[in-house]
Amino acid sequence: MAPKLPIYMDNHASTPVDPRVFEAMKPYLTEHFGNPASTNHAFGWHAGESVERAREQVAALIGASPKEVTFTSGATESDNTAVIGVARAQQSKGRHIVVSPIEHNAVLDSCRYLAKKGYETTVLPIDSSGVVKVEDVVESLRDDTILVCVMMANNEIGTVQPIAEIGAVCRERGILFHVDVAQALGRLPVDVNVLNADLMALTAHKMHGPKGIGALWVRRTRPRVKLEPLIYGGKHERGLRSGTLATHQIVGFGKAAELGAVALVDGEVERLKNLRDRLWDGLRAGIDGISVNGSWEHRLPHNLNVSIPGVEGTALLMAIRDIAVSSGSACNSENLKPSHVLVAIGVPDDAMHTSIRLGLGRFNTEEEVEYVIERLCTEVERLRAMSPLMATSKSEQLEI
Ligand SMILES: *Cc1c(COP(=O)(O)O)cnc(C)c1O
Repeated sequence: MAPKLPIYMDNHASTPVDPRVFEAMKPYLTEHFGNPASTNHAFGWHAGESVERAREQVAALIGASPKEVTFTSGATESDNTAVIGVARAQQSKGRHIVVSPIEHNAVLDSCRYLAKKGYETTVLPIDSSGVVKVEDVVESLRDDTILVCVMMANNEIGTVQPIAEIGAVCRERGILFHVDVAQALGRLPVDVNVLNADLMALTAHKMHGPKGIGALWVRRTRPRVKLEPLIYGGKHERGLRSGTLATHQIVGFGKAAELGAVALVDGEVERLKNLRDRLWDGLRAGIDGISVNGSWEHRLPHNLNVSIPGVEGTALLMAIRDIAVSSGSACNSENLKPSHVLVAIGVPDDAMHTSIRLGLGRFNTEEEVEYVIERLCTEVERLRAMSPLMATSKSEQLEI
């Protein structure tokens, strides 16, 4: 059966809200509209209890205590609060931060801001595998290091980092460890204690929840992490993040977290991985020279990032307007700046512009995967036949 078009296969950028999440949210926009901070009437009580239930659901997904979960507007805000908040609170201990080169810009730009305020950042080395080496982390640590940031899974190449090992190294040295788990939630087991983390950035919209809601998890005991807020006001969220809680968003996040925990055990993750593997098998059978960017082994189950020699990623995306995927050269909005992740792992310039990212999600089907394989293989062949580059190299080959 032909799938419904267009097909969405860009689930690292965002995911559709699960209908069960949407159903859970709806009443909170209408009848249960109270402010969770209103403690003197039933509307407020109901909202407040619902927020606390959601906090428990989110905490359960990462094996944490609900008291340690602060709701934010998303992983960008959580990363900013973690990096800048810790830097400001711990500056008497030191002003040195260690980050991986493939962190989300929410972390990297926070470090760039801090650099202007007299902090120093060490960017860890990385090779073509896109996986950080624990030895390199050990080597980067100094007496004045206050924070290490390594994301659990990358949003472009999907590589998964040795978080528990890095966390153990940090713990031994008494250095705080921040982990962005935005892409890992609902696809990999995430447990704050197993991973030896001190702070974590979460977001709902990468796991079939609504946009504009996320959380920052901050360890409260052994050690009790001190950080300064970025937003001041009504002292919501124990003063760490002021602003009226977005009850409907939070309830949706809670439901998405509950479903994410189910996805880890009910076969959804395995189904995603099988679809992804089928996608790769189909593409490599039909496209000469196609290659995967980053480690295949240490990779999110729903990620595929490939380079297709001789075909501009953006030209390919234009040609397949009925399929939503991302190109490696344009993933930072409209500008054609190459992705810092592909640069960091040493993808050559020409291969960079030929890279595309496919991200599978809960609602993708086998039929869609087959359609995408067929369309991509056909379009790559057509574009290669048209390309002056390929044509020259072919005629040159003929002359030899
Ligand atoms: C999407 C994403 C973010 C940003 O999250 P928002 O909730 O959109 O602000 C941060 N880190 C990673 C790894 C992401 O994939």
